[in-house]
Amino acid sequence: MENFVQQAIDDDLKNGKYTTGIHTRFPPEPNGYLHIGHAKSICLNFGLAEFNNGLCNLRFDDTNPTKEDVEYVDSIQEDIHWLGFDWEDRKFYASDYFEKLYNYAVELIKKNLAYVDDLSAEEIRRTRGTLTEGGKESPFRNRSIEENLNLFAKMKAGEFSDGEKVLRAKIDMSSPNMNMRDPVIYRIAHANHHRTGDQWCIYPMYDFAHPLSDAIEGITHSVCTLEFEDHRPFYDWLLESLDFDEKTRPRQIEFARLDLTNTVTSKRKLLQLVKEGHVRGWDDPRMSTLSGLRRRGFTPAAIKKFCNEIGVAKANSLVDISMLEHCVREDLNETADRVMAVLNPLKVILTNVDEDEYLIAENHPHHGGNRYIPFGREIFIERDDFMEDAPKKFFRLKPGGEVRLKYAYIIKCNEVIKDAEGNVIELRCTIDPTSKSGGETANRKIKGTIHWVEAKSAIKAEVRLYDYLLKTDENGNLPEDFISAINPNSLIVIKNALIEPSVKFAAPSTRYQFLRLGYFVVDYDTTFENLVFNRIVGLKDTWSKVKNA
Ligand code: ATP
Ligand code: MG
Repeated sequence: MENFVQQAIDDDLKNGKYTTGIHTRFPPEPNGYLHIGHAKSICLNFGLAEFNNGLCNLRFDDTNPTKEDVEYVDSIQEDIHWLGFDWEDRKFYASDYFEKLYNYAVELIKKNLAYVDDLSAEEIRRTRGTLTEGGKESPFRNRSIEENLNLFAKMKAGEFSDGEKVLRAKIDMSSPNMNMRDPVIYRIAHANHHRTGDQWCIYPMYDFAHPLSDAIEGITHSVCTLEFEDHRPFYDWLLESLDFDEKTRPRQIEFARLDLTNTVTSKRKLLQLVKEGHVRGWDDPRMSTLSGLRRRGFTPAAIKKFCNEIGVAKANSLVDISMLEHCVREDLNETADRVMAVLNPLKVILTNVDEDEYLIAENHPHHGGNRYIPFGREIFIERDDFMEDAPKKFFRLKPGGEVRLKYAYIIKCNEVIKDAEGNVIELRCTIDPTSKSGGETANRKIKGTIHWVEAKSAIKAEVRLYDYLLKTDENGNLPEDFISAINPNSLIVIKNALIEPSVKFAAPSTRYQFLRLGYFVVDYDTTFENLVFNRIVGLKDTWSKVKNA
């Protein structure tokens, strides 16, 4: 593992720190489903632990009772396991530590490093100062330790209403770092918590709970995203003030968050998409959530490879979503069986065929296995593969022209049947009977090869074609109001696609390459009557083009 976080770990080990081993954690707040950005953090944290023969904890950062829910707790665990990582018996909750955290706050008060403030949230904001100007000390800042202990106990006992009082760290109102200007560390919230119920009516702030949770669990490297860089001085101040030993206490290291084009990676925005009904749910295949990507048919291997390839940097950047799709294609090209499906069928009668037969088709070009595909007098081809007034370079089927049916015969188009409006509704063709594999004319040179399905045996299916949920400008940026960038054509449903019968009993999540069309996965909506496929990605790899340009 070659990145600056690993270098920092190497340096620490060289300097005799953390002699009992490396310990990381992944600390989601259970207020939404995990997204592709979280996958980067998961791969990094679990990856660092693995690389250093250490451990990685899962910790739910559940200090914000009104936004959190067990539905999210469950989905987060499912997603991490799906990616292939395991926290073993180390699943923790910040709420496990509420009692300990309270005691640490009391200790700070006793050291005269925290005080109860009666200012309102608004007044605190107003007296905080600006980037260029220091803040103003609260008139309550110099309460006695005795009085602070007393008031904090009353806060805990529920004697005040929400917002009436807060506990603040006593640091420096003139610090150039705003996070050091007496940050709030406890607030009153008479809210039911999904784990602790009504036991608490005061809750620790993230900046207070996080470093201490790390320290309690023996975390050595607390890896987080760049926006916390300015919070690091407080992280260190807190642990220092509470006498955690510098040789063993955790250190925070920041890395650049992952941003992807054509999508959003913010739980708040993803929640908005769900709540306002722009998508079908958190696992809509157009979402950047891990549950959405899973339903879409993306594989854990592809997501991990992607996270590996984008690397870990110190500067934020926007990654082209086609790079993720490239990783998906690379994986599926190796792993997905090939089948034939026709999305927009055009009937073809093979006038010199009288008997049905089975033909042999290979499941994958590199690794073994064949299957039978039925062949008979009536077949369907893709409407696009026929053109009546075809240009010279059109090598598929045209009147009087020939084309090869994959795994089958060369056919010739003799007659075009139209309806009253002049639409082509059927082709009459003949096969060259000796042109199938092993036959006399099997190697006859024909420029085009097309896919097809046999009519009687083909299975009808619903196929859902996805495009990006959001349209970005040429630099990949979204407008301020991202809802206005929603692509109205991000889902196209094809009701009457036809697929060869070999897919008949495929369970949800089975992935295939439909020859010439792309990669597809059986959707969870599949029922006895209705087989549903999602298109995972098309075959055209726009990322390779970018890469090789
Ligand atoms: P969001 O902005 O979507 O609400 P968050 O940071 O609030 O995300 P958390 O549940 O707190 O979500 O995140 C858990 C961990 O995942 C944190 O360590 C966070 O830094 C990391 N993380 C979140 N978003 C990304 C991202 N886009 N890229 C990399 N890491 C991320
Ligand atoms: Mg967060």
